[in-house]
Amino acid sequence: MNEKRGLLIGRIQPLHYGHMSVIEETLKEVDELIIGVGSADQSHTNSNPFTSGERVLMLSKALREYKIDPSRYYIIPLEDIACNSLWVGHVKMLTPPFRKVYSGNSLVKQLFNENHIEVVQPPLFNRKEYSGTEVRRRILNNENWEELLPKSVVKVINEIEGVKRIKNLNKKEVSEL
Ligand code: ATP
Ligand code: MG
Repeated sequence: MNEKRGLLIGRIQPLHYGHMSVIEETLKEVDELIIGVGSADQSHTNSNPFTSGERVLMLSKALREYKIDPSRYYIIPLEDIACNSLWVGHVKMLTPPFRKVYSGNSLVKQLFNENHIEVVQPPLFNRKEYSGTEVRRRILNNENWEELLPKSVVKVINEIEGVKRIKNLNKKEVSEL
């Protein structure tokens, strides 16, 4: 394998500046980056409001906004599976071959390491604000969420009426308590 290819996984609910920083930094280290959209089968819940297709759209628009060469990345939805012990094989089946994984998640690290694949933990940027949880919290509380996301992603969220969806999902879950 001559190409130096890396894998980065995020649920991207939604895409924020933290994701963009780690993508830009990792692209300095690898020839090609595989961006795995985690929990691709999940949507319409408080912590996973957006579909896999919507998250692919956010990524492709933001990467275009940042003028990142499309020949340098792959966007691959990764559905969850029930068996953690089989998950690395599942990911490998869906992705181009890669040498290194970039993740701070301890279970991801353990599972790849047990399969003899190196995992490095990229630094977190302004984690207090650049976090999916914080973006969703601000949307629910009518605070400034737009400043945490690339403009093209704000446009996607508006196009799919994402604010309305997040607020409706919250109402539903509260009324079901
Ligand atoms: P959530 O709060 O919904 O879990 P999140 O911000 O943790 O969202 P995820 O979609 O879960 O983002 O993706 C996690 C991955 O995204 C991390 O492993 C890391 O590589 C990257 N990431 C997320 N936030 C940042 C950040 N602020 N700086 C750098 N990388 C980040
Ligand atoms: Mg997370």
